[in-house]
Amino acid sequence: MAKTVAVIGAGAIGVCTALSLRRDGHDVLLIDRQGPGEGASFGNGSVISEEAVVPIATPGIWTKVPKMLLDPLGPLALRWSYLPKLTPWLLRFLLASRTEKVEEITGHLAALMEGSLAAFDPLLEMAGEPDFIHKTGWACVYETDSGFADDEEYRQLQARHGVRYDVLGPEELRQLEPALAPHLKKGVFYPDVGFALNNFRLVQLFAEAFEKAGGKILREEVRDFEIGPEGPEAVLTDKGRHAFDAVVVAAGAWSRPLAERLGAPTLLDTERGYHMHYPEPGIAPRLPVYSTERAFVATPLEHGLRVAGTVELGGLQAPPNWERAKVLERNVSRIYPGLETEGGKPWMGFRPSMPDSLPVIGRSPRHPNAFLAFGHGHCGLMLSARTGALLADMVAGRGTPIDMTPYRPDRF
Ligand SMILES: Cc1cc2nc3c(=O)[nH]c(=O)nc-3n(C[C@H](O)[C@H](O)[C@H](O)COP(=O)(O)OP(=O)(O)OC[C@H]3O[C@@H](n4cnc5c(N)ncnc54)[C@H](O)[C@@H]3O)c2cc1C
Repeated sequence: MAKTVAVIGAGAIGVCTALSLRRDGHDVLLIDRQGPGEGASFGNGSVISEEAVVPIATPGIWTKVPKMLLDPLGPLALRWSYLPKLTPWLLRFLLASRTEKVEEITGHLAALMEGSLAAFDPLLEMAGEPDFIHKTGWACVYETDSGFADDEEYRQLQARHGVRYDVLGPEELRQLEPALAPHLKKGVFYPDVGFALNNFRLVQLFAEAFEKAGGKILREEVRDFEIGPEGPEAVLTDKGRHAFDAVVVAAGAWSRPLAERLGAPTLLDTERGYHMHYPEPGIAPRLPVYSTERAFVATPLEHGLRVAGTVELGGLQAPPNWERAKVLERNVSRIYPGLETEGGKPWMGFRPSMPDSLPVIGRSPRHPNAFLAFGHGHCGLMLSARTGALLADMVAGRGTPIDMTPYRPDRF
């Protein structure tokens, strides 16, 4: 039966969810205080990678924490002043890094990732851009043999969960991507990976398709919900009240207070990330390349080279540390020595992150008509179409193709 559904947040997750709900014939209101895709979805690495099944917290991560505290420019950094607020998240993060837990979480991420590229196909059709995602695979590159050897367990974990890859020597690497620096020692090619030609435009294309299909987008800030005797009934914004039968919170890193108000307290926090965007890079790589040792991806978008990555734990309020973006520039110049950096623009965004690297996709434990879809961390673009499809199944009361228990909001 068609319902009136309010979706809060027009990032990749909210827009894909709204479009999937509209395809099912619901009346859908998509509400965001900014334009579609202007949050974390604006500046990501644009990669859609089904191999991303291993969580961020892996065994031994705790040995890296002291270094995080001391090096504000390292690939993983922590703002001291934020430590007291972050402690419950950090403890759960460390608990999630136990060997048996990592194996379990990898299985749950693999279940979500499977088919995440194909999940875009119906949405791209609706947007009239069936070829906007290029399925090229990607290469993870290593500057040292020891760096490659250190990742052996990581690759074995991936392989146990069905990830396909090929190890490349220096010559094969350069054949794959001639612009790469000659000092690179090893690469790993993952075939089941694609990238959107422009991650921001992808969200905008889906938002336009949503409106063309009869969906409504409101530029308003959600402040609260009206909760009646039967449960949540309306969303209250800075401009008014909008009644709904069901509501979906997809407000990215800002979802926590909204979820709490709907009876779903959560450990959501943010892993801040940076990018440098080079409009005229002077090189034309064919596929995304990930520098494993320096923790960034370089993706050839339709409007330049996007270099994105690093993690900074520092909450939603602290100003950006643009030195971190400069480090990205130094690092990318090592793997692409021919890169023209003039005109490069920095950006910082807020990954919505759960301590166990699993998103929240499910119903509020208190209100059956309130749904939550946030916390996708490093994988929010890649999982956006899949999340939208799963959410649409849940709102319709259909069975989902995978067990959704691992992603439930009250799992902690
Ligand atoms: C540097 C970097 C690189 C990344 N690279 C990749 C990558 O290559 N591939 C990948 O899959 N993922 C990547 N990610 C992660 C990805 O960008 C995020 O997981 C994803 O964008 C999250 O989407 P979202 O829709 O949940 O959140 P957002 O895009 O942040 O959208 C949330 C929206 O909610 C709105 N909102 C919040 N509160 C309210 C309110 N009260 N009222 C109204 N509106 C509200 C915001 O305005 C915002 O538009 C990267 C992230 C970063 C930072």
